[in-house]
Amino acid sequence: MDEHSVFLPRAEATRLLQALKGAGFDRILGPVAREGTLLFQPVKRWEELPMGIRDVQQPGSYRLQQQEGSRCFAWANGAQALKPLTFTPREIIWRAQRSVEGHLSFESAQESPEPTAVVGVRACDLAALDLQERHFMHGRFPDPWFRKRREALFLVGVSCSHPADTCFCASTGDGPAITRGHDLGMAELDEGYLLWAGTQAGRTLLERLDLDEATASQRRAVEKETHQATVTQSRTLPGRHLKQGLYERLQAGHWADVGERCLSCGNCTAVCPTCFCHMEMDEPALNGGTSEHLRQWSSCFNAEHSFMGHFVVRSDTRLRYRQWLTHKLGSWHEQYGRSGCVGCGRCITWCPVGIDITAEAHALLQEAPDA
Ligand code: SF4
Ligand code: SF4
Repeated sequence: MDEHSVFLPRAEATRLLQALKGAGFDRILGPVAREGTLLFQPVKRWEELPMGIRDVQQPGSYRLQQQEGSRCFAWANGAQALKPLTFTPREIIWRAQRSVEGHLSFESAQESPEPTAVVGVRACDLAALDLQERHFMHGRFPDPWFRKRREALFLVGVSCSHPADTCFCASTGDGPAITRGHDLGMAELDEGYLLWAGTQAGRTLLERLDLDEATASQRRAVEKETHQATVTQSRTLPGRHLKQGLYERLQAGHWADVGERCLSCGNCTAVCPTCFCHMEMDEPALNGGTSEHLRQWSSCFNAEHSFMGHFVVRSDTRLRYRQWLTHKLGSWHEQYGRSGCVGCGRCITWCPVGIDITAEAHALLQEAPDA
């Protein structure tokens, strides 16, 4: 929120969707209650958003509850962040074809993404997108597929007023307020929405809406809710830079403890908005005439992910969990200048056995360093 915030009354909220459409975004996605969670789905009217819905999240558990009230963003997050919109779970990268004369030709399978506005993005997920940009757009091997999809997005962030029990974005410094990465920022009050611009595209959209300035009392109400959302978070990481502490404990007994509980299912990496591991494979047609080269999400919890030469380097779950945690909270600092965790809490909620990254990090750092 900034001093130029404007106010959109609740009864007129669909005007925001109309303004997005008028700005060329025929595809507008918003959070919709579906399949027991909240998913980004196409929306045309404000009433399609999850009005009165609350989420109850705990380690290994996620439930939606319908309650009284007209708020549409009184929940923390769903299973899905922005990740599938820019880094597709499974996609064809290129195709090869063999002519009857036996000549091979190759063509890119890259498609032009549709301009897409996403309404209701959380601060932690904007921070996660920034991390994925560091990897896919600003690394040694920029990914044109990611870049095109990212550049087609217009992001309407919404500050959190009701964090879940599993959230710890205040501890990582990535939430709960919308402060960066947004085209348009939004905060919800009972009577409507405060809106502010983060980019020139956001400013142009606000001009199109032509709204009155938010009042001082509305701004104070948002500040109060944001403060409340910060102080109610009970989980924390033991610090923002844990590389040294973790690397000094690579032989800690706690790795075996968590390795006993972990199922190596990879759920945590699938829901994590910053995880980017993937595998590439070729699928030739049975007639030998064509072949497709695919990229698909993978996980450091899969045995084949560490297959090198003739053997699996991380042969048991203890080693795979250690790889995940020491990368996420440790070596990300070297690669991308910060930790790979934005405190969204999804890996805690969606872990079938409720393993909690914050509790594991605290337990590990309580052990004495390796001799
Ligand atoms: S490690 Fe867990 S809490 Fe951190 S960003 Fe990934 S899913 Fe969210
Ligand atoms: S930590 Fe939980 S979600 Fe992640 S691989 Fe282990 S059991 Fe699955």
